[in-house]
Amino acid sequence: MFAQVIVDIIHVEVDKIFEYSFSEHDGVKLGSRVIVPFGKKMIEGIVIGIKSTSEYPVNKIKPIFKVLEDTPVLTEETLALTEFVCKSCYVTRACALRLLLPSEMRKGKIKEKYTIFYELASDINVDQAISQLKASAKKQRELLYFLAENGKTSSAELSDAFGRSAVLALLKRQFIYELKEQVVRSPYKQLDEQRKRVQLTAKQLEAVESVENSEKGTSLLFGVTGSGKTEVYLEIIDRTIKADKTAIMLVPEIALTPQMLKQLRARFGDNAAILHSGLSAGERFDEWWRLRNGSAKIAIGARSAIFAPLTNIGVIIIDEEHDGSYSSESSPRYVTSEIAKFRAEYYGAKLVLGSATPSIESYNNALNGKYNLIELPERVNKKPLPLVEIADMRNEIRRGNNSFFSSILKAELSECLEKGNQAMIFLNQRGYSKTVVCTECGHVQKCENCDVSLTYHREDDSLLCHYCGAKYKMISACTECGSKFLRYGGTGTERVVEELQTLYPNARILRMDRDTTQNKEGHYKILSQFAQRKADILVGTQMIAKGHDFPFVTLVGILDADASLFFSDFRSSERTFQLITQVAGRSGRAEEAGKVVLQTYQPSNSVLKHAIAYDYKNFFAQEVSIRKATAFPPFADIVRILISGEDEEKTLEVTHQLHDKVNLLYTQKRDIFRFFGSMKAPLKRLQNKFRFQVLLRLESNHKEVIDELYAISNAFNSRSIQISFEVNPNSLV
Ligand code: ADP
Ligand code: ZN
Ligand code: ZN
Repeated sequence: MFAQVIVDIIHVEVDKIFEYSFSEHDGVKLGSRVIVPFGKKMIEGIVIGIKSTSEYPVNKIKPIFKVLEDTPVLTEETLALTEFVCKSCYVTRACALRLLLPSEMRKGKIKEKYTIFYELASDINVDQAISQLKASAKKQRELLYFLAENGKTSSAELSDAFGRSAVLALLKRQFIYELKEQVVRSPYKQLDEQRKRVQLTAKQLEAVESVENSEKGTSLLFGVTGSGKTEVYLEIIDRTIKADKTAIMLVPEIALTPQMLKQLRARFGDNAAILHSGLSAGERFDEWWRLRNGSAKIAIGARSAIFAPLTNIGVIIIDEEHDGSYSSESSPRYVTSEIAKFRAEYYGAKLVLGSATPSIESYNNALNGKYNLIELPERVNKKPLPLVEIADMRNEIRRGNNSFFSSILKAELSECLEKGNQAMIFLNQRGYSKTVVCTECGHVQKCENCDVSLTYHREDDSLLCHYCGAKYKMISACTECGSKFLRYGGTGTERVVEELQTLYPNARILRMDRDTTQNKEGHYKILSQFAQRKADILVGTQMIAKGHDFPFVTLVGILDADASLFFSDFRSSERTFQLITQVAGRSGRAEEAGKVVLQTYQPSNSVLKHAIAYDYKNFFAQEVSIRKATAFPPFADIVRILISGEDEEKTLEVTHQLHDKVNLLYTQKRDIFRFFGSMKAPLKRLQNKFRFQVLLRLESNHKEVIDELYAISNAFNSRSIQISFEVNPNSLV
């Protein structure tokens, strides 16, 4: 027999299928992880095909060295999915395969965990045994009594309580026996709590049934914040499990997974398994296997959980489907909903996209009949959406208020705190100040490796590059002119906390951003402190914007609503609208009505106006007409070919060559292209590499042309020049 194997090397040159021989007793199956000889080395690979004959001469074919697990890690479906990822994300097979396996599995870094237990020998009588011990053997006596009472106990626990020598002595006499058992490392143990079940409202039930009965594979659940979408998801999952199928539940942020896991565990117990990068390697490995071997039937996680090793999938739910985090920012740049569609179609499963602010693409698909549209226009408790007040920051400055808090926000905060309620303050900038500027010569401190200004972090008194992660010591004088007069430009969350603490010395303030959530379960710790009302104010970046349900929050402050409007990105209006709606949705979710203060320098901006009126439909109409008129997605496809290299001249030269090759295609198919140009990337240098780009916009539905563009670009990949090929990228920096 012959196996077709993909080896775990991601170079383009090795993107081939290799054949190895095996005999039937070797246990090689489709999807097995194997070790094979490759050149002079042994490396890991995956069996993607099995055949009885090979075209290669038999003496050239080497045998498979070893099969790593009895259960194949991949299934027919996930193998097909790998092919799909290669073709749609323009990556090698090995690269696509890595999405489907937990990284700790590769190179055998993590294995199952076993623990030693001890148990009383079955044939002994405790009293008799004790009578045979020396009178002085007090610990041994106690240990035997303990085991007689408590049964099987771990070695660690026994050694702690009675000492290792007592354990060894009893073992020698064969009064106790050793057992080795696998222990499943399970994350968030503290989450097991009971929650009371709610009775679905008629609207919610209608939504559940609409998903079930729709002829269309994809349903868009468009429900305002607090409309009870989560309960709808839970009910759909419940029915799916009862029908003996499995489910994938995705949330946009790792920070939101514990909260969702809690609800899933309360209802489905151990059937829920969580997959995300914040777990320990061992936990992730064990959770992955629980899903693979069927002992868990519901996968929950952020983006990457879409690759959960489930079979017989009945439903895939993507909560807050509009969220940018569902598009991967590094290669392979997959779009989660496309992976979801592939898997749902394969199994005939339902796909549910939920949002209070659907992406332009999704709502467009719902309006033109591709998706089943379900609306939940009211909050469950019929409470109105919180009132949004605009603070015009230009007026504040005119009035001499130079702090980052408007007078309205300060007044509202004082009132909120006095009443003993909680507030959330949102600012999408971590660190203390965005930049450090010299007041003498105007020099801005920049990263040595990137064309980016450095952010000051007061906590560890350092300057940090938010693009490459480089860390520098804070300067005491300007590196250009030596002046000691430095100014902090732009505000970050650390500085907001500092000023709030001065304004409200008694307030207990928590901060949640990437810096405070580095530790294991870090998100969870901050959120649960806030939920238990151990703090009055939560300051945070977009991490706090989504999904959280804190009943005592009655005020939300959005410090810089304009920040995302200025990005040179066709999605910037959409992002701003979504962000404001999401953040505002955190306020007034329970008894007391909520309020939102939105600080801006352009109060008459139409995006902001629609957002504060919660007017999605008019925002959508406006945005769609702009995108149509200017030929942007979903009415066109953007292709960006990014060329980067350490040698600026050489990189530029390759850019020219690539441009000329693309130009041939462009002149042949002139009518398909709406735009074609080459230029420096907005971020000109990153991690010591110069960056140029070829940008194209094409009429939609021309995958064949995009494939051709990929083939052209890929040929320019080399050791010194990297080409990255992106279709409708999420960010164009
Ligand atoms: P969304 O996800 O749409 O923002 P949630 O699912 O978080 O909304 O629901 C908002 C609040 O309403 C939650 O506190 C939830 O427990 C509660 N809730 C949802 N459905 C019901 C129901 N049928 N009866 C009572 N309370 C409900
Ligand atoms: Zn200076
Ligand atoms: Zn940098």
